[in-house]
Amino acid sequence: MIIVFLGPPGAGKGTQAKLLAEKLEIAQISTGDILREAVRNKTPLGLKAQEKMNSGELVSDDIVIGIIKDRINARDCGNGMIFDGFPRTIEQADALSQLLENKGKKIDLVVNLDLDDQVIIERLTSRRSCPTCGAVYNLVLKPPKQEGKCDNGCSTPLYRRDDDSEKVISERLRVYRAESYPLIEFYDGKHLLKTVSADGSIEDVFAKIRCLIGSEL
Ligand code: AMP
Repeated sequence: MIIVFLGPPGAGKGTQAKLLAEKLEIAQISTGDILREAVRNKTPLGLKAQEKMNSGELVSDDIVIGIIKDRINARDCGNGMIFDGFPRTIEQADALSQLLENKGKKIDLVVNLDLDDQVIIERLTSRRSCPTCGAVYNLVLKPPKQEGKCDNGCSTPLYRRDDDSEKVISERLRVYRAESYPLIEFYDGKHLLKTVSADGSIEDVFAKIRCLIGSEL
């Protein structure tokens, strides 16, 4: 089963993709997570991507397509994959179709998470992440049990992502509308798209997504 999550930053793609990947026992593939790890480890990839990420712009198609090309060959992708944050441009979407086709696979469903700008800004400014295990919290929707600390017992304090500042959020929204929004029409034209309102609790949105999967696959 191969699923793509679309939606603006802050719609909850990562959170929902993780829950669904656990439920379906398939791999979750987040280019944002892969890039952030590369930045943390100061690898050549991280050094190349860092500036673009910090300013809210997209990393080049070549780089992210290269990441995906390697990642989908990993053993944990055999049962299926959920892509979250990829593709973000039509060029990436074309590349993904081609890479999957080369493996005799295709996308089964594209879930589009829909959310108003005002709610996005509120969500992103209250998002906190754990630098050690990558767990994501929200001070309003999903606060950590102890202020500033990861529930998984990690020793590092929770932090706000550099690109979750208000200035960078508006750039990310601008980039989303210009580069990624056209993917909605692209996948709708292929009869793969289902839109879900991402306004609501994590559990409510997940229940809607599960309903959709149940009826689709
Ligand atoms: P995310 O965690 O998905 O919000 O991604 C954080 C940042 O990583 C984005 O603002 C981009 O700079 C970069 N990024 C992640 N995925 C992609 C992608 N598919 N294409 C280009 N840049 C990406």
